[in-house]
Amino acid sequence: MAKLYFYYSTMNAGKSTTLLQSAYNYVERQMNVLLYTAAIDDRFGVGKISSRIGISQSAQLFQKDTNLWQEIQQEVAQNPIHCILIDESQFLTKEQVYQLSDVVDKLNIPVLCYGLRTDFQANLFEGSQYLLAWADQLEELKTICECGRKANFVLRLNEHGKPVKQGEQIQIGGNDRYLSVCRRHYKQMLEAQD
Ligand SMILES: [Zn+2]
Repeated sequence: MAKLYFYYSTMNAGKSTTLLQSAYNYVERQMNVLLYTAAIDDRFGVGKISSRIGISQSAQLFQKDTNLWQEIQQEVAQNPIHCILIDESQFLTKEQVYQLSDVVDKLNIPVLCYGLRTDFQANLFEGSQYLLAWADQLEELKTICECGRKANFVLRLNEHGKPVKQGEQIQIGGNDRYLSVCRRHYKQMLEAQD
């Protein structure tokens, strides 16, 4: 039986690398995959999933109003698809997560979603909220804080390297950087700003 998977993590834990590796494993066995990434992420050009270690692959884009159920159904009618992989899945809407669960349940195609669990203010992203609620299988891709503890919080740093407390949830590009830290250091670094 196909399943809906959610691989979640903080920034820089190797999500895209893991996704591309999984896609490659399917392709190596002559199976067809369908890759998606968020239209919002244009760091590396349109319709591309890029890993920090230098590999990349073209992908279809989803926007807030993309009907993934319809698109995938049309794709499957033309070509057998064995697996669907979605990067930046934190940007999915509740509706789109539901559509992906339909792809699993009605078309019996596994859907692997990769995304951030929380934003820089430690709130769940919409896509992550519903993937955590509805996925058949959850897996955390771990990375560590500079202190050696597991990093499960993300700090947004401004151009001076100082943590930012306020701002839009989605702000890709620009001069901001992100740092994955443990909860203890997340609090300490923000409190040091007071
Ligand atoms: Zn730490």
